[in-house]
Amino acid sequence: MTSLGTAQAAPGEIDTGRLPAGETRDGGEFGLPVAVINGAQDGRTLYLQAASDGDELNGVGVVQRVVPRLDPAELSGTVLVVGVVNYHAFQVAQHRNPIDDTKMNRTYPGDAEGTSSERIAATTFDVAKRADLILDLHQGSTSRMIDEVRVRCGSRHRIHDDCLELAKVFGSGYVLDQKGPGGQLARAGPDEGIPTIDPELGGCVGWCERSIECGVQGVFNVLRYYGFLEGEVSPETQTRATGFDQYGAPRGGLVRFEKDLGEEVSAGETLFTVRDVFGTVKADVTADGNGLFWRSRRLPQVATGEYVCSVATGIGTY
Ligand SMILES: [Zn+2]
Repeated sequence: MTSLGTAQAAPGEIDTGRLPAGETRDGGEFGLPVAVINGAQDGRTLYLQAASDGDELNGVGVVQRVVPRLDPAELSGTVLVVGVVNYHAFQVAQHRNPIDDTKMNRTYPGDAEGTSSERIAATTFDVAKRADLILDLHQGSTSRMIDEVRVRCGSRHRIHDDCLELAKVFGSGYVLDQKGPGGQLARAGPDEGIPTIDPELGGCVGWCERSIECGVQGVFNVLRYYGFLEGEVSPETQTRATGFDQYGAPRGGLVRFEKDLGEEVSAGETLFTVRDVFGTVKADVTADGNGLFWRSRRLPQVATGEYVCSVATGIGTY
């Protein structure tokens, strides 16, 4: 029998339930929605979580589509799922946990006696540590962003190659291979010796079907490649970036982009213009270096200094 919170599944069974995570302001207990898919055959354990940031719903869309398609009779090993991590932020459709105004993915491995976010991180990390592989489904919040997978442990980490392999198997086409800030699950997992990736499934308000489908395909690629399911996967060459140049608005007004997501950028090329309300160009912003147009703001209106877009740098393939 495999348990995850109130969910319990014997070999060949699936169950859903709640993982107790504390109490809400009205004094009631709350739990995170969880699923256990216990394969009829032995094998590895995969941990999958979504909505670590409360406005990033594409990962929940992936969970909704993957879980009903998993037949425990056909599965070797176990899949553990936390469908919504950032419980409080999800309730109010915000990025950060409103209880402590903290970004969940800066609090791993968490602290069972700490702040609201630290406690939820500790609760979910206890589950993640049971796994051989970790997928932490994110997206570029509500910005526009390509579908990419982040490897955050840093190139000197002892299991960097394993994380890169997992990213290649997931196969969104693009990988950001850059050591992340402290407190990310994609750093805490590798420190426990568990290959971990942070798929960033586009960016949108609500759901983006194309990015959700990319995530569903990625999860099934992982399940097949690592022997949870039968079937062949031949990982394809990925475009890898090792950093970002970020661009802000030098003037206030409305932004028009000259590049689209995924397009190559050469140094000196125009990335965007800022125009006044009547169409007069106030600023023409060019690329500092070569790269790929990776992410941009969604709303056109900007104040001086406001974030506009990111160009990924250090582009190569593997
Ligand atoms: Zn996120």
